[in-house]
Amino acid sequence: MCGYAAALLLMLFGFRGIRRSTPDLHGSRQLSWFILCGLFGVLLIGLRPWTPALVSIVLANFLLFAGALCIYLAAADIFEADLHVFPWPGGTLIVALPLFVWFTYGNEQVLARLVIHAVVLGSIFITTAVFLFRRHGEPETRQPARACAWLLIFATFLQVAWCLFEFQLPPQQTNFIHPDLINVGFSYLSMVLGLAIVIGLLWLALTVHRLTLHRMAQTDSLTGLLNRRAFEEILRRELLRCDRNGTRMGIMLIDLDYFKQVNDSLGHFAGDDVLRRIGLVLRDGTRPSDVLARYGGEEFVVLLRNAGLDESLAAAERIRLLIAGLAGLPGRVTLTASIGVAVSELRETATEFLLRSDEAMYQSKREGRNQVTLYRALREELELAAAAYIPGS
Ligand code: GH3
Ligand code: MG
Ligand code: MG
Repeated sequence: MCGYAAALLLMLFGFRGIRRSTPDLHGSRQLSWFILCGLFGVLLIGLRPWTPALVSIVLANFLLFAGALCIYLAAADIFEADLHVFPWPGGTLIVALPLFVWFTYGNEQVLARLVIHAVVLGSIFITTAVFLFRRHGEPETRQPARACAWLLIFATFLQVAWCLFEFQLPPQQTNFIHPDLINVGFSYLSMVLGLAIVIGLLWLALTVHRLTLHRMAQTDSLTGLLNRRAFEEILRRELLRCDRNGTRMGIMLIDLDYFKQVNDSLGHFAGDDVLRRIGLVLRDGTRPSDVLARYGGEEFVVLLRNAGLDESLAAAERIRLLIAGLAGLPGRVTLTASIGVAVSELRETATEFLLRSDEAMYQSKREGRNQVTLYRALREELELAAAAYIPGS
């Protein structure tokens, strides 16, 4: 028990460090409480020969139960889940309190207390395990969430097995669980599992935290679309894939027309609202495989995977019409967009590809706005002009 207490104490210091360096780590506060409850719980159990049963049995066990509840709360906090979905882990604790006092003072029975212990811990552990199996979220969190869930299930089996062994070999005294090898073995295994569960949940919390930071670094906070950096990273990868497979893809750069006037007449907040609506329009008007991003202030970009010239132009025209037909904007403004479209070429860099769509977009602006322009290289323009040239005309 002293070894377990020392390990918990060390963990507590470790957690203090982690919480200082990462104050917004979900679940870390509850795990610190678990460690504190465990620490005081085992210390009080260790004081049993010198303290009244109310402290060394009832209070000590309730500290262990509260610790188990902290495990559940930590798991819920890691996934930012609504707690009212699982109200009954706390409920078992409330039901267990009078029963535990009764089997300590009214009708003193060690085995009954052990069964209550197993039922309370088991119900909290199983609820937490089911929650973790269901809420593992993204593929990266599956492994730590499942590891924690299996540890909790194993800890429940251990409690049940402990009860069964005690029924086979009942203790002689009523006040102490007999300190034989089986009991010592079960106690140690429970403690080791408790530590393993904390480490598992910490692993899960850090994984979720890393993914959240990664997502935040990739997302534009106003529209929820990708930001420019994340988009360019994907674009580079997709261009390499096109080179390998010999396929092409389209890109459209969308710039809202006279957007400054929206801000000037309605204010920045209304302008932000309009930008959010444009984000929704883009989501509605594109395929799930397309990559959408807010490229700059009032500029958006869409990558159209496996789209050739005609498909890209059709998609851009659809988006232009959706924006022009957008109703219910703040101040009942009407909005249009100038769009530049380009189709990828072999061994082209992301910057070159983007520049071509930018050039096409500026041509849309120059030619009166609210239109879609396809990028054409100077050579293509000359060829078209030569084809249209009639000698002598
Ligand atoms: P043009 O048709 O030539 O594109 O005209 P424009 O007014 O759209 O372009 P300009 O570049 O002059 O102005 C862009 C405006 O976009 C200026 C800026 O206030 C606004 N803007 C950029 N980012 C945001 C933002 O996050 N929120 C809001 N509300 N406005 C923004
Ligand atoms: Mg602009
Ligand atoms: Mg603009």
